[in-house]
Amino acid sequence: MNIHEYQAKEIFRKYGVAVPNGRVAFSVDEAVEAAKELEGDIKVVKAQIHAGGRGKAGGVKLAKNLDEVRTYAEDLLGKTLVTHQTGPEGKEVKRLYIEEGCDIQKEYYVGVVLDRATNRVVMMASEEGGTEIEEVAAKTPEKIFKEVIDPVTGLTPFQARRLAFNINIPKELVGKAVKFMMSLYQVFVEKDCSIAEINPLVTTGDGEVLALDAKLNFDDNALYRQKDVLEYRDLDEEDPKEVEASKYDLSYISLDGNIGCMVNGAGLAMATMDIIKHYGGEPANFLDVGGGATTEKVTEAFKIILSDSNVKGILVNIFGGIMKCDVIAEGVVEATKQVGLNIPLVVRLEGTNVDLGKKILDESGLNITSADSMADAAEKIVSLVK
Ligand code: ADP
Ligand code: MG
Repeated sequence: MNIHEYQAKEIFRKYGVAVPNGRVAFSVDEAVEAAKELEGDIKVVKAQIHAGGRGKAGGVKLAKNLDEVRTYAEDLLGKTLVTHQTGPEGKEVKRLYIEEGCDIQKEYYVGVVLDRATNRVVMMASEEGGTEIEEVAAKTPEKIFKEVIDPVTGLTPFQARRLAFNINIPKELVGKAVKFMMSLYQVFVEKDCSIAEINPLVTTGDGEVLALDAKLNFDDNALYRQKDVLEYRDLDEEDPKEVEASKYDLSYISLDGNIGCMVNGAGLAMATMDIIKHYGGEPANFLDVGGGATTEKVTEAFKIILSDSNVKGILVNIFGGIMKCDVIAEGVVEATKQVGLNIPLVVRLEGTNVDLGKKILDESGLNITSADSMADAAEKIVSLVK
């Protein structure tokens, strides 16, 4: 799960990760009121969307007075912001964050991620803040420093100091940078984050080390024990199809292709997407209906797949292990009738009672193409949508 910058900064304040003062605003008037409560002449008006790259796209504005705050708030609220992270369709701005402008001396990068190669949490830092870290990694990887963190000791002050020195934080601010990194690590661990990224971390004219931007992602599997984080969920920022799927406990991720996939088991779902591509097709989604696919679940899954207007055909690939193939076939038939399917549907069943399952499909009188193997199924659906 993803949250907004202002929400991440709320969490940061609780953990002593230094951030500038700021207020969230949902309307132009609230933005101006928020600006009045803040100190300093310069206020920054920041669009709150679940995507970075806002600065370059015009989503971060420096206002020199309250009139400018009003003008920028009017500009940004309701606007669709297209950044390199939103995709071409962009994201509508519904919330603003009004923040005290700060006197930036230099911008750095600090990120905490889970590194699957070392099975450890890693803190990364770079002197090249503000730019995208992917670009730094590609062009000047020697400018990214990493500390692999032992889960027993956590990030040690020694490691944080080494990072601060490596990225050339001015000597007199190393203490503050170390405190910043230690607290950031604490947030990452205690809040079950999958990513904590500060880009930029800045040093200021009055000798502070602050997070100017804040991106936190959370491990969905841990949200059951992070109730306060779950409160921050903003459904406006999520794909409505994915939100709908999560209500029925379906693992669904929408993709760009035109072949809808309904599969049980994540591994089989991945393999199904691979084989569709192998035969020259493009999957429209990843969808794992799970082990116990009931008629209701199958029906909902169909509805979600069909709500994507790009979908020109559906491939159902189910292994009847816990579920029996005849039960699944009945579910597919029932769901097909309910949603009034009018695009090609290829079904491949394997496992317990497979013959009975196929018989049910064949005798349903519906336009269902049954397939014998994964390859057969993929070839059939790819040729049917073409
Ligand atoms: P994004 O990464 O989405 O572009 P950031 O929050 O990183 O958004 O803001 C972009 C840039 O705007 C920052 O690199 C920084 O230079 C400037 N900026 C952001 N917040 C402030 C602030 N409070 N005071 C001064 N400058 C800021
Ligand atoms: Mg940023």
